[in-house]
Amino acid sequence: MSFKDLKLNRPILRAIAEMNYDEPTPVQEMTIPLVLEKKDIIVSAQTGTGKTAAFALPILQQLFDRQDATNQAKTVKALIISPTRELAIQIADNFKAYSQYTNLTTALVFGGTSVEPQVESLKKGVDILVATPGRLLDLHKQDVINLDYVETLVLDEADLMLDMGFIDDVKKIERLCPKDKQVMLFSATMPYKVTQLASAILKDPETVKA
Ligand code: AMP
Repeated sequence: MSFKDLKLNRPILRAIAEMNYDEPTPVQEMTIPLVLEKKDIIVSAQTGTGKTAAFALPILQQLFDRQDATNQAKTVKALIISPTRELAIQIADNFKAYSQYTNLTTALVFGGTSVEPQVESLKKGVDILVATPGRLLDLHKQDVINLDYVETLVLDEADLMLDMGFIDDVKKIERLCPKDKQVMLFSATMPYKVTQLASAILKDPETVKA
């Protein structure tokens, strides 16, 4: 299978070709069509399997299609929650690389560093926001972030997120987003607490094992 078979748009195909991605990895092959069908998904995949592109590419595809149709305002439409700053940086870097030939923009917020530059980057308006839970809630409380237009929520490394004690924050974030949204949960392991969280916030999910 090729990326073309996954029906990705030309600017996205161009970006991944330049990154020398020759063909989709197994998790990408299984996940991308489900995301494009707007399904909620639970994906067990380790880092290194290509899981970031498995959610990033179809998210960009959906937003790119819509942007063509409506040219709507820059509000957060896809929200990606990551337990650690390092992972959040990697995810945002990937979104920026994959979307370099589109007009879609990505912002990154995480704790342990000053808020001002992050606030500035948000003021310009963004389509995709990658965030760690605590800083996201802080900035939402300060009215810097509007989650009213989120269409897609991704919880990455959900097992680590729960191990780090972010369960209440994650549930709070989910409730701040509109009810009617697509939710994707990625986790290296699937302990009971992860499946419990999934059943609390995902609707009729499909399961993918990489
Ligand atoms: P991840 O599992 O998302 O952390 O990705 C692991 C690494 O694989 C990253 O450096 C990606 O840039 C790279 N990668 C993702 N998808 C592909 C692909 N289809 N072909 C080649 N490399 C890829």
